[in-house]
Amino acid sequence: MYEGAIQDLIDELGRLPGIGPKSAQRLAFHVLSADPIDVRRLAASLVKVKEVVKFCTICFNVAEDDKCRICRDPRRSDEILCVVEEPKDVVAIERTNEFRGRYHVLGGAINPLEGVGPDNLRVRELMQRLADGEVKELILATDPNTEGEATATYIALLVKPMGITVSRLASGLPVGGDLEYADEITLGRAFEGRRTI
Ligand SMILES: [Zn+2]
Repeated sequence: MYEGAIQDLIDELGRLPGIGPKSAQRLAFHVLSADPIDVRRLAASLVKVKEVVKFCTICFNVAEDDKCRICRDPRRSDEILCVVEEPKDVVAIERTNEFRGRYHVLGGAINPLEGVGPDNLRVRELMQRLADGEVKELILATDPNTEGEATATYIALLVKPMGITVSRLASGLPVGGDLEYADEITLGRAFEGRRTI
């Protein structure tokens, strides 16, 4: 244990996901020895992200306006909708340049062990978006792990009676992994080779 401010910083950093006590200590001492200008910039961006960044009212991607950049883009197709777990998955798919439709960000995946059910995700909002009949194909691009598969299966069962084509990304993605860790080429191929379910 250290005294005062340095211990407070270690405690705060240690509350971040993936940061253990040793990493927290290393980061805290890095901040202590860094240039004050750099530290001020870091602190300002931490505060700003909470003030400025919102969630898109249509797709729930991160946005600085009511609508995100993708929902505002008139050149994108409204007929094809890609369902992902998190905003970082939108970034991963955008990097492939394979997709010109719109997105829907669920905000996670079904995970009974952690008490996350469909009601905790933006499934109801998805169904509302699909109700007007404009979407012809729904791509389920949830993570290739147990929770992601369960979520895709659940949504597919809900959507299929609506007469919408439902597809899932092709195999080739690292199983058990996270969509964001797939490289652009692998993810791009998985997109191209998506299969109807
Ligand atoms: Zn949006």
